[in-house]
Amino acid sequence: MPDEALEDTAAAVVNYNDSGMSLLEMSHRSQPIVDLMEETTGLVRHLLAVPDNYQIIWLQGGASTQFSMIPMNLLSENEIADYTDTGSWAAKAIKEAQAYGSVHVSCSTKSSIYNHINKDLQQSSKAIYLHITSNNTIYGTQWKTFPDTLNPEGYLVVDMSSDILSRPLDFNSIGLIYAGAQKNMGPAGVTMVIIRDDILGKLDRHIPTMLDYRTHIDKGSAFNTPPVSAIFVVNRTLRWLNDLGGVQVIEKKNMTKADKLYAEIERNLLFKSPISEEDQSPMNVPFVFAENGDEKEFLDFCAERGLLTLKGHRSVGGFRASIYNAMPEAGVDALIAAMQEYESQRS
Ligand code: PMP
Repeated sequence: MPDEALEDTAAAVVNYNDSGMSLLEMSHRSQPIVDLMEETTGLVRHLLAVPDNYQIIWLQGGASTQFSMIPMNLLSENEIADYTDTGSWAAKAIKEAQAYGSVHVSCSTKSSIYNHINKDLQQSSKAIYLHITSNNTIYGTQWKTFPDTLNPEGYLVVDMSSDILSRPLDFNSIGLIYAGAQKNMGPAGVTMVIIRDDILGKLDRHIPTMLDYRTHIDKGSAFNTPPVSAIFVVNRTLRWLNDLGGVQVIEKKNMTKADKLYAEIERNLLFKSPISEEDQSPMNVPFVFAENGDEKEFLDFCAERGLLTLKGHRSVGGFRASIYNAMPEAGVDALIAAMQEYESQRS
């Protein structure tokens, strides 16, 4: 997370805006917090150029709750939704949706351990929506451009948990996007959902009040107690991004970081990327030993240089550098230097 956001949070936890109260003690109905929520939503609308016919809400339960909430609100039992199986999170979304309607899997790269995205989709012409995971956090693949829906009336539902606010977004075919905050937006504890007005209210199924998007839209994300402290950190992260120049600027910075790291993985004789080049994610960069190597030894070598949490996800092994928005270029440079030092020691 950006240092500025952490410093502001530390100060606010002790004394919120000179109120003599801690951020952690503030009521969500108090004016400063009402203002905070409004500013935070406004920053998202500004940074992503969210059109007026989309609502932005803040929920709890993580992106994982959205795997159920989406079909519960948007898909009736006798309707079809297309889903793309591009990673473990996508597969979890598929599993949950199956309880609410007919789920048609348009592509799957599971048999090749999700090392690329199959963009040749088999869509059903009647699908209400097409679900994609824009960035596959564990495997390090990203949809560089979003696919079109085959059904002209259909819309995209996009899990952007691990690349939200990393690049500009075209809302043209988007019905709903969702993202847990804990990568590019702030800490865990709050999930953002952006929904086009017209897609709601079309089903006659009973939806529990807390799981109905309309509840949270109607009450400005304060139907019940929102996670105020997490939203504060999101606010300061968004302010940081805005001051930096917004998503166009961060996209360039992200590409600079990713390009140099992928170039080093390509050049370094010890490592290789398991991911097909055209789908490589600028957010999560997995790499493995080109031949045999001692993973623990390299992780220890990195840790000695202050480079932590580089272990790949347990389902794929190897290494993964998550270089989200707030990771400075110097962090990537330090990893590249460590990879080069390790290589020279081994040859
Ligand atoms: N989708 C994606 C793409 C993710 O990366 C994650 C979490 N890493 C999730 C969904 C699940 O998010 P949460 O833990 O907030 O439920």
